[in-house]
Amino acid sequence: MKSIILLAPPAAGKGTQADLLCKKYGFVHISTGDLLREAMHQNDELGNSLKEQMQSGKLIGDAIVFELLENKLKTIENAPGSILDGFPRNVNQAEEYNRLLRSKNETLKAVIYLSIDYDTALKRIVGRISCPKCGHVYNDLIESNQPTVKGICNDCQSSLEKRADDNEEIFKVRFETYLEQTEPLIEYYKEKGVLYEVDSALPTNEVFQMIESIVDHI
Ligand code: AMP
Repeated sequence: MKSIILLAPPAAGKGTQADLLCKKYGFVHISTGDLLREAMHQNDELGNSLKEQMQSGKLIGDAIVFELLENKLKTIENAPGSILDGFPRNVNQAEEYNRLLRSKNETLKAVIYLSIDYDTALKRIVGRISCPKCGHVYNDLIESNQPTVKGICNDCQSSLEKRADDNEEIFKVRFETYLEQTEPLIEYYKEKGVLYEVDSALPTNEVFQMIESIVDHI
């Protein structure tokens, strides 16, 4: 199985690029944010506590995230590859994931770092809407990324929603959390020789072409 990680600040387009990769290569898109939002919608104790923490823009504890991830990975063992979006978010999660891959005799093929500056990412957040059912991400303000019918998912026809944490105030916390906890992973994966950088401020199709050329050569 080809294991690929998309590493990026919030709103760099990880979800959009992951969806394109899955359509082209048949990979499975695993977003820990989506797994957590699914768990959050269960109205139990865990769901309620996740809601509060996620809406603050801070990271959820590694143990909960890893348990959700492991359960998801068990369901996709026959897939040609997986695209991890939003995981790992810190060095501890990266180490844990290495151990898991080693135990399955698999290796990490590539970490694709989607670079973007704060102001461009913030603009993207303002228009972002997503499908609560299949996770497809759209943007009302970017023509090439709008749904065909306003407010409706192209893939599963569910009503699109704006995420509660997609506002400027929480975005600022999420970006700071990224700089503190996730950005050190760039050096971490560079040292392991698996890091590829792509300029994510470019239009979606150009970013995807660069990602395709990486995936075709690993
Ligand atoms: P995302 O959908 O990736 O933007 O994630 C939304 C929120 O879910 C983040 O702000 C965190 O609170 C939480 N989250 C997602 N992935 C992780 C992770 N790997 N570790 C910890 N928290 C996460």
